[in-house]
Amino acid sequence: MHTKINDWIQESAHDVRIAATAQVVVVGGGPAGLSAAVAAARNGAEVILLERYNHLGGLAAGGMVLVLDDMWDSHRQEISVRGNCMTMIERMAALGLAMFPKDHEWGGDPEMYKRWARWGTFDFHSKTTPHPICFAAAFDPDGWKRVALEMVAELGIKLRLHSWFSRTLVEDGKVKGVICDTKNGREAILADVVIDTTGDLDVAASAGAPHTGGNYIVTTVFRLGGVDTETAERFEQEEPEKFAEIDRQAKRVLGGSWAYWWLKTPLPGIVWCNCPHIPGLDGTKVEDLTLAEVKGRTHIHALVDYVRQNMPGFENCHVIDVAPQTGVRQTRLLEGEYVMTKEDLAQRTRFDDSIARGRDYYMPYGVLLPKVIDNLLVAGRHYSATSQAQKMSREIPPCMAMGEAAGVAAAVALSSGVTVRNVDVATVQRLLLAQGADPGHDGSARLAVPPFIRNTAAQEAA
Ligand SMILES: Cc1cc2nc3c(=O)[nH]c(=O)nc-3n(C[C@H](O)[C@H](O)[C@H](O)COP(=O)(O)OP(=O)(O)OC[C@H]3O[C@@H](n4cnc5c(N)ncnc54)[C@H](O)[C@@H]3O)c2cc1C
Repeated sequence: MHTKINDWIQESAHDVRIAATAQVVVVGGGPAGLSAAVAAARNGAEVILLERYNHLGGLAAGGMVLVLDDMWDSHRQEISVRGNCMTMIERMAALGLAMFPKDHEWGGDPEMYKRWARWGTFDFHSKTTPHPICFAAAFDPDGWKRVALEMVAELGIKLRLHSWFSRTLVEDGKVKGVICDTKNGREAILADVVIDTTGDLDVAASAGAPHTGGNYIVTTVFRLGGVDTETAERFEQEEPEKFAEIDRQAKRVLGGSWAYWWLKTPLPGIVWCNCPHIPGLDGTKVEDLTLAEVKGRTHIHALVDYVRQNMPGFENCHVIDVAPQTGVRQTRLLEGEYVMTKEDLAQRTRFDDSIARGRDYYMPYGVLLPKVIDNLLVAGRHYSATSQAQKMSREIPPCMAMGEAAGVAAAVALSSGVTVRNVDVATVQRLLLAQGADPGHDGSARLAVPPFIRNTAAQEAA
């Protein structure tokens, strides 16, 4: 063999079967993709949702990232992300598969911190100690998958799982559809508008849209079962010094972790662990993704051995699963019509064409719009932002808010016969507001706390 690594070979051209067509094709069934598909279908578009794995959810369910946060504006003391994200929470809560503090529990009461800290529902951006409790929701990954499938079915969205996007079809700068790799070979899916919600900008990058590269820690998230969380919390609260010593060592064994390496889930005895973190990896490279799995699992097994022997409450714990979707936070980022900066986030810049909110920041329509390429929208963690800004604004709720805006914009473009670049943003804002989302423009009403989050039992008793 005289071939060398990084040489190129030519792939022969071949015909590809057209497997399906739709007005809107959403590529990637994560939080942004689900939200985009739901919004486009709700506003009258015929929608196909494509996903490479066997379930919907992306990092939220497949990645087992099990707290919806960054939806609380501490400056305005209000919930900043509504719409599809809130619907997901309400529907999972109705199944007993989402937990959140109600409105009377928010604030700085140390008792509330004790009650909610291990659910991860506190404002971790706050400089106050203990961090104030705010609205955020812990959920079960299968609850997410179930509700997502129900919503897709209710709206008649055509779902194609096991479809790995591989190439964008572009003619004269306009996206015409996508090609997916499947067990049956390659399939073409044609569309009037494509929404890229792959998280890694696969579709826009393949189409030739300008973008940059970013990087952040990669995490192999996992869940432990058999944990006596009551004993673990009591030990932490009643013997803080002993706890701190063991906890410090546990984090050393993990090799990289946030302050809270385990959090409760709605399933008794099952905790999720947002660790171990591995820096310096590229989430688009096979070699690095493989290394993350191998190295991550080594740390996980060492941690289990350690806490079984040392941490009260963890004596009988065992690994339930390591997340099927690797915890990649940042790879390619769109360089769109507007590029969000960390100053925009820190200064809470307001935009006339605001279409989504995150924690206490606002996002303009231009962050969803690629330059140069038409008939394409981008929503989710690969949105048009600097690497630093994305690190501060990539949580699930804002990704869902962006997806919802992209879905509405696609439907409005189709019904008004214009391209997504020329869509009337005021109409998009009006529709978003009408369906319960908060686009964050000047005309946004200050929305009330939804009834399912209010402490109605106490109010009724009073
Ligand atoms: C370890 C970790 C911890 C985090 N912690 C939190 C947290 O506590 N709270 C919070 O709110 N956020 C958290 N985040 C951030 C959040 O999870 C993500 O930013 C968010 O899920 C992004 O949503 P998305 O839809 O843009 O992308 P993703 O969730 O990545 O979804 C992308 C979807 O596209 C699919 N896809 C990708 N490529 C292709 C392809 N080629 N063909 C077909 N399908 C494809 C994927 O399978 C996936 O379903 C965390 C992230 C990580 C990695």
